[in-house]
Amino acid sequence: MKRADKAQRIQKLLEELYPHPAVPLDHTDPYTLLLAVLLSAQCTDARVNQVTPALFARARTPQDMVKLSPAEIRAIIRPCGLSPQKSRAIHELSRLLLERHGGQVPRDLETLETLPGVGHKTASVVASHAFGMPAFPVDTHIHRLAARWGLSNGSSVERTESDLKALFAPETWERVHLQIIYFGREHCPALRHDLARCPICCFAASKARARLERQTRSGKDASKRAR
Ligand code: SF4
Repeated sequence: MKRADKAQRIQKLLEELYPHPAVPLDHTDPYTLLLAVLLSAQCTDARVNQVTPALFARARTPQDMVKLSPAEIRAIIRPCGLSPQKSRAIHELSRLLLERHGGQVPRDLETLETLPGVGHKTASVVASHAFGMPAFPVDTHIHRLAARWGLSNGSSVERTESDLKALFAPETWERVHLQIIYFGREHCPALRHDLARCPICCFAASKARARLERQTRSGKDASKRAR
C-alpha cells in the first residue's frame, strides 16, 4: 500500500474513533496552555491537570506570575517533576512576555521558541491549538507510531514531522496530532503488539515489521514453553 493511501485510511479510522479530539491539558487561554504544555515535559497530562488549578489560582497571567518567586512556583509544581528548571522557566518566560510582547503569548513558532523552556514541540502545540497556526507537534509517541505505521522512516523527529506534514492536509494537522495521541494511549501497549488484532497495524505495518513482531512473539512463546 502506498504511503499516501495508508495515511488516508488511517485518518479515516482516526476520524471515526475520535471525531471530537479535545486538547487533554486543561487551560483557558494561550498563556495557561503554554504553561500546561511546558509542565507536561516528562510528566503525564493527568498529573499536570491535577497541579495547574493550584498554580492558576495563584497566577493565571504573566503579570501575576512574576509576583511569585521561582521558589513559590516550584513548591506548587513539584509533582510534575523537573520543578527547578520548570519553575525558573515559567518565571522567566512570564517576565519576557511582559518585557517584549506586551504580556501576550506570541503566535508564531520562531518567537515562541525564543522563550525559556519552550522547544519546538511545545511551541508547535501552542501555535496549533491556541492560535490555529499550521503546525504539527511531534513528540516521541507520535514519532514512534509514525514509524510503526510506515508513514515515516523513523530516522529523526524532524523527518517524521516533515513526512506527516506532507501526508496530511494542513487544516487537519491539529486534529490528526491529537487523534494519534488518543489512539496511542488507548490502543498501543509498550510490549506485545498483536498486529493482526490492531485496527491500524493490521494493514499499515510494513512486511519487515510484521516479520519482526512474529519472530519476537514466537521467540517469547518458545522460551515460555522451555521454562
Ligand atoms: S500494533 Fe497497534 S497497538 Fe501496536 S503499535 Fe501498532 S497501532 Fe499501536
